Amino acid sequence: MTISTNGRPDHGPYLSSDPDERITADPIFEGEVDTDQTVVVCGAGGFIGGHLVADLLRQGFSAVRAVDIKPPNQWFQKFDQANNRSLDLREKDNCYRALENADQVYNLAADMGGMGFIENNKALCMLSVTINTHLLMAARDNDVNRYFYSSSACVYNQEKQDTPDVEPLSEEDAYPALAEDGYGWEKLFSERMCRHFREDFDLTTRVARYHNVYGPFGTYDGGREKAPAALTRKAIEAKLSGSGNIVIWGDGTQTRSFMYIDDCVKGTQKIMHSDITEPINLGSDELVTINGLVDVIEEAVGVDLEREYDLTKPQGVDGRNSDNTKILDELGWEPPTALRDGMQVTADWVEQEMKRHRETKSKSRFALAH
Ligand code: NAD
Repeated sequence: MTISTNGRPDHGPYLSSDPDERITADPIFEGEVDTDQTVVVCGAGGFIGGHLVADLLRQGFSAVRAVDIKPPNQWFQKFDQANNRSLDLREKDNCYRALENADQVYNLAADMGGMGFIENNKALCMLSVTINTHLLMAARDNDVNRYFYSSSACVYNQEKQDTPDVEPLSEEDAYPALAEDGYGWEKLFSERMCRHFREDFDLTTRVARYHNVYGPFGTYDGGREKAPAALTRKAIEAKLSGSGNIVIWGDGTQTRSFMYIDDCVKGTQKIMHSDITEPINLGSDELVTINGLVDVIEEAVGVDLEREYDLTKPQGVDGRNSDNTKILDELGWEPPTALRDGMQVTADWVEQEMKRHRETKSKSRFALAH
């Protein structure tokens, strides 16, 4: 990331509004790859999936199959250079169709969202088990070379996260199991299924446990957004409306770490191509309180906010951080982007999007009135 003349991080073509320009940038992942292989990205219409497809195209993969349940016109990012398909991957037949002749598969498809969504939709979250189950079966039967599964820090035992002053979570802290109800249990079960498909059927599976990912081209409103995007949207609303107020879920003392999307895209591919067979943390270890995150957002957005705390809203565990000992040992790398830098890029993007939507809305109101 370079710093532009106005002092803000400049993401150049990665953030261009033209998708063709986005895929001509330098790739984020720089490992050696066989670009003749067919790569399937499941959940490609989502936040992380869209960024991963972009990076595969940047590397020169000629057969990238992008699959999502949403119709392509609703994807966060869509590239004409990929083979874009709309399929419900809970259905076994669709998984077999999606993975025909596939060499590498990234499973990023899940029915999920931030705390507000996962606390109120436990059954829906658990139904994502059908996606991974059917994809694993299709991968095994299509002789897929490598299969990646996106797990989550929500698999960790909740009793190890009951203080803001938390010990970073290391991989063994998932057991004895007491995962986040619903979403976390599904992730833990699906991880385990990847392991047994590897052991019993010789399918090469890789699993990363993501810790809160944020960045541009993701959800920032509508009910599925996560804390960084939701708080950024609220801060921009407060700035644009002049209200100067922000409502924070919980008392603001909860601690978390947040990983910038480029680090997630790079780490995902590093793990995919590694020899790491067991689930591994992929997260930043820069711990902040939610109040600290709001400080960073205020600076990024350029606003001073009056804070109000809503204790009736879900706030998740008291503290969560990533122990990066294992990823450093295995890859000699960990997510490097500072929260301040990543949030600046994110806030600039969210503000630009919100302004664009406002303009489109007022133009269509004007058109209706005339
Ligand atoms: P996202 O919601 O933006 O993307 C998920 C995509 O999966 C969506 O586009 C959705 O339409 C698609 N999908 C849902 N059900 C489907 C189905 N039946 N068939 C086909 N597609 C379907 O989420 P994301 O942030 O990009 O997350 C990607 C993966 O990473 C998910 O598995 C998520 O659980 C995991 N993860 C994300 C985070 C994070 O902070 N974003 C943290 C931990 C784990």
